[in-house]
Amino acid sequence: MEIKAIRGFNDILPDEVGKWQFVEEVAREVFEGFGFSEIRIPILERTELFSRGIGEATDIVEKEMYTFTDKSGNSLTLRPEATASMARAYLEHQIYSFDPVAKLYCIGPMFRYERPQKGRYRQFYQIDAEVFGVGNPMVDAEVILMLIHFLKRVGLEKLELQINSLGCRDCRPLYRGELKKFLTEKSFQLCEDCQRRLHTNPLRIFDCKVETCKEAIADAPQVINFICNECQGHFNQVKGYLEAAGLGYVLNPRMVRGLDYYTRTAFEVVSYQLGSQNAVTGGGRYDNLFQEIGGLDIPGIGFAIGMERLVSLLPKDKAFVRYPHLFIAAMGEETIKEAYRIINQLHLQGIRVELDYEGKSLKSQMRRADKLKAQYVLILGREELKRGKAILRNMESKLQEEIPISDILNVVREKVKGVEQGNRDC
Ligand code: ATP
Ligand code: MG
Repeated sequence: MEIKAIRGFNDILPDEVGKWQFVEEVAREVFEGFGFSEIRIPILERTELFSRGIGEATDIVEKEMYTFTDKSGNSLTLRPEATASMARAYLEHQIYSFDPVAKLYCIGPMFRYERPQKGRYRQFYQIDAEVFGVGNPMVDAEVILMLIHFLKRVGLEKLELQINSLGCRDCRPLYRGELKKFLTEKSFQLCEDCQRRLHTNPLRIFDCKVETCKEAIADAPQVINFICNECQGHFNQVKGYLEAAGLGYVLNPRMVRGLDYYTRTAFEVVSYQLGSQNAVTGGGRYDNLFQEIGGLDIPGIGFAIGMERLVSLLPKDKAFVRYPHLFIAAMGEETIKEAYRIINQLHLQGIRVELDYEGKSLKSQMRRADKLKAQYVLILGREELKRGKAILRNMESKLQEEIPISDILNVVREKVKGVEQGNRDC
């Protein structure tokens, strides 16, 4: 029987991969421009890192982790997100001893055991950016600004930046208490999961997709009305910095984010081009995470972008595939040998060249060049070869010219340079 991929685990095929490479290239360029450095972290971590870091009573830890016991009896988990691992690496390698402020980013797959559907998979990719070691609200605004700048650079439109403040260790318990009181009276309306959440983590009820739960929570008290003066001051400054940078935002008092470690600023960017899974990216401040995993008081803020959802939003009219610059159509043993010599030289110059290996007719080779969307075809015929010439055909304009074989490298290089400049947007 044919072996198929696991449900929720996708192949990204060659004709799609150009989009992914484009997004990653822009992320690297934009983030590094903002002073961020890449970090690569393992895909497998000790389960404890996530259960302590993300929080026992979160959906991720309760239901979504790929956890197994290895041959030595250790409980390990495929990372469901990158922030906790990045924080672990920052502590483990004492990155803070060089400079307490670290701006890091990471790109790679995450794993969550969720019900696969459009925009929701079991292996999915995230681009993650985090700033460790600064509590100043200016950084919150800077991180959000970088995110929006990145999303615009990749060509996304119709975006909405939503922000909220979740308070801190001092003021959130007060809000939790109020929310619990409010929802206890409506507990008969809550689904089984939310009945449990009411006792473990009532804020999670905001994220429940069940209709009756949504109704129950519609008029619930809002966290923003319960935050302490310090948190309010911090939030006001974040808003001020966003306004100073000319960034529009919408206050969303119902956005609580799925992870326990968030404090103060929380944000999401939603796209109205997506269906029900409309969050492209989410992030926020987490000033308690380092306490949980390492007992140190280090503030942090960051975001994670879902790459599948981002890629699905890329402009449709943009070309992301790298087509061959040149196709060499050669006929006869001698000319194929000559073509082989030329192709090797061109490849070493970074020119994308294709050749027909089967010695087919000129007509069928031209058809293949067309199918591969080659920009030029170099026709090497026996007669031309004798005269030291070849025919170069522009596949778009259909214009042909005869060029000396000794000049091929220079001529093709010049033509390709022109084509690449015309394609700058990609
Ligand atoms: P959601 O509410 O959609 O479940 P989340 O709050 O769980 O999102 P985060 O943990 O903040 O998401 O992850 C950041 C981004 O990663 C999301 O905005 C989304 O684009 C993407 N993402 C999260 N889970 C998945 C998934 N299972 N499949 C594909 N993308 C995902
Ligand atoms: Mg989720």
